[in-house]
Amino acid sequence: MTDQLKSYLERYTQLEGAVRELIARKGNSLCAQCSCICCDAVMCVEAIKSPFLKLIHQQADQYDEEKGFLSSTGCRLEKGRPSVCYEYFCDDHFYFQPDELHEEVLRIIGSLLFHATRNAQGEIPLDEITEEDQLDSADFQTLEKNLNESFRALEIIQEFYRTGSITDESHSFLKSIRIPEEFQ
Ligand code: SF4
Ligand code: SF4
Repeated sequence: MTDQLKSYLERYTQLEGAVRELIARKGNSLCAQCSCICCDAVMCVEAIKSPFLKLIHQQADQYDEEKGFLSSTGCRLEKGRPSVCYEYFCDDHFYFQPDELHEEVLRIIGSLLFHATRNAQGEIPLDEITEEDQLDSADFQTLEKNLNESFRALEIIQEFYRTGSITDESHSFLKSIRIPEEFQ
């Protein structure tokens, strides 16, 4: 593994932890009390098809054909979840947001990991590269730029949640974070 990949893996894992914290904050998370959990092995399988995600979670041996990574206490993966697991929010999440700006911010939080992995190999994101030996030759210049943008957006969002306000410049920067088409 090259130093570039190693460093990217560490920073991505840090970003994922911060995204998880933002999604779990009061007002954002309904999943803990949900009686109709939308996790599905079809999504979990992405975490074992992706060499990048496998390097992060190192839990491929815990994948179950029927239940994927879902256990009676929730997802077994603390890190290295497929990005779709962060991108999708059911309608209830938006219903409980106080206004449209909070809805927009929630969508952006869910897209920070997707944004960080974009265009690793042409238009292919890093988590969709299927051969481990191709990870080292990914476009790390682009990936580092994307990752830095996700971290900057993260700081803006943390500040927004602390103060309840956002400058026009910061808001405009948040709009540059790419949201996957299916969640726009
Ligand atoms: S996203 Fe909605 S449906 Fe899915 S687990 Fe969370 S609360 Fe339940
Ligand atoms: S959050 Fe975990 S259990 Fe749910 S779909 Fe994603 S990987 Fe599977």
